[in-house]
Amino acid sequence: MATALRNIQMVDLNTQYDKIKSEVDAAVLEVIGSAAFINGPKVKSFQAALEAYLGAKHVIPCANGTDALQIAMMAADLQPGDEVIVPAFTYVATAEVIALLRLRPVMVDVDPHTFNVTAEIIEQAITPATKAIVPVNLFGQSCDMEPIMEVARRHNLIVIEDNAQAIGADYTFRDGHTQKTGTIGHIGCTSFYPSKNLGCYGDGGAIYTNDDALAEKCRMIANHGQTKRYYHDLVGVNSRLDSIQAAILEIKLRHLDAYAAARQAAAAFYDAAFANLPDIAIPARQANSTHVFHQYTLVVKNNRRDALQAHLQELRIPTMIYYPVPLYAQKAYRDAMTHKIDHLPVTDFLCQTVLSLPMHTELDEETLGYICEGVVRFED
Ligand SMILES: *Cc1c(COP(=O)(O)O)cnc(C)c1O
Repeated sequence: MATALRNIQMVDLNTQYDKIKSEVDAAVLEVIGSAAFINGPKVKSFQAALEAYLGAKHVIPCANGTDALQIAMMAADLQPGDEVIVPAFTYVATAEVIALLRLRPVMVDVDPHTFNVTAEIIEQAITPATKAIVPVNLFGQSCDMEPIMEVARRHNLIVIEDNAQAIGADYTFRDGHTQKTGTIGHIGCTSFYPSKNLGCYGDGGAIYTNDDALAEKCRMIANHGQTKRYYHDLVGVNSRLDSIQAAILEIKLRHLDAYAAARQAAAAFYDAAFANLPDIAIPARQANSTHVFHQYTLVVKNNRRDALQAHLQELRIPTMIYYPVPLYAQKAYRDAMTHKIDHLPVTDFLCQTVLSLPMHTELDEETLGYICEGVVRFED
């Protein structure tokens, strides 16, 4: 075994950094030299670059993806007790901010193939108390947003896209035009956590919207609810992207499409190796969306997931289970739910069968070959 293979990681940020080191180091030193650590010119230029990349009218940078969701919900004027529909198969942050704001998370199931919520599932959960929907573009591909937006229009609901895992993916509408994920709902939210597809070297996040009034409100809320300094019209929060992170993100944004292509190439390699394995389903592609593979997630059937994970661990191939517990079953959320749930068949099934393989921008064919061989041999 080559020594390089002894250190396979779920995400390799070191090798990625080595390739942009001189650019990043210079930009970071420039910020330090300028001492404009908060709201410096780098924050403005990154904001403008991200607006251009996404084709979004407004980007509001903030401190992390969870804050982005919270600020979006505060801006949406939701009142305590309002119901917000959210998938039960997602990262906890999505439901956390709903509960924090004393709203009611209504947790719904997902599609077994794409792992995303659908318009049909959402529509069945709508009640007179429903005010918002938070579709999560899970693992790197868009929910089927066009029908979701139609449902939202019919029921007068605000749509907040959790795009923390899918920045850079494209969604295609029936008329053929495409839009970046996160710009289709009324508000989109992103995380720049280091391991995300566009990750900084600390915490960061952003909100995006094409709605001027919502943008203004999000900007105010993120900045203590102030219209001008020391005049506070709303109760807000303090949530800022710092200038050093913005400088790093501005550089990495230029590479985002190449990073997505590297992830897609790794996914294609995995797909080809696993296409005919009896217990394993490769990740389905959502119709109308590109996939930027934040995660490459297998479904391992016939109760063999945990054994496969142990087998791979012996070969020093790391894997992760995203997510092992449905959100509705988390102790913290049982109380926040108006409609108690004991069982969501697809979510429950996925929590018991999903397995995510190493996925990042620096996977070479030798490493991929080694990982694939490990999986294929288990199945033989
Ligand atoms: C990472 C993530 C978040 C939260 O982002 P942070 O920057 O860690 O606060 C929210 N939703 C989803 C789906 C995520 O993957």
